[in-house]
Amino acid sequence: MGIIIDANVCQGVGDCVDACPVGVIEKQGDKCVAVNNDECIECEACISACPHGAISMQ
Ligand code: SF4
Ligand code: SF4
Repeated sequence: MGIIIDANVCQGVGDCVDACPVGVIEKQGDKCVAVNNDECIECEACISACPHGAISMQ
């Protein structure tokens, strides 16, 4: 369970990192990556925060 970030769509703005209450997402270079999906509580805050629609639920 958790999220998938489409690296081809992600623009690295970092809004998803700020939105996630449990620290699932980390900025790596100019992209964001779900590094801690085991902690995801599926609140979908990151999906709402992403201005580019790069995030979906697994
Ligand atoms: S769904 Fe919620 S808990 Fe899971 S990565 Fe997105 S903001 Fe974080
Ligand atoms: S908010 Fe969306 S576009 Fe911005 S870093 Fe996160 S996944 Fe990428």
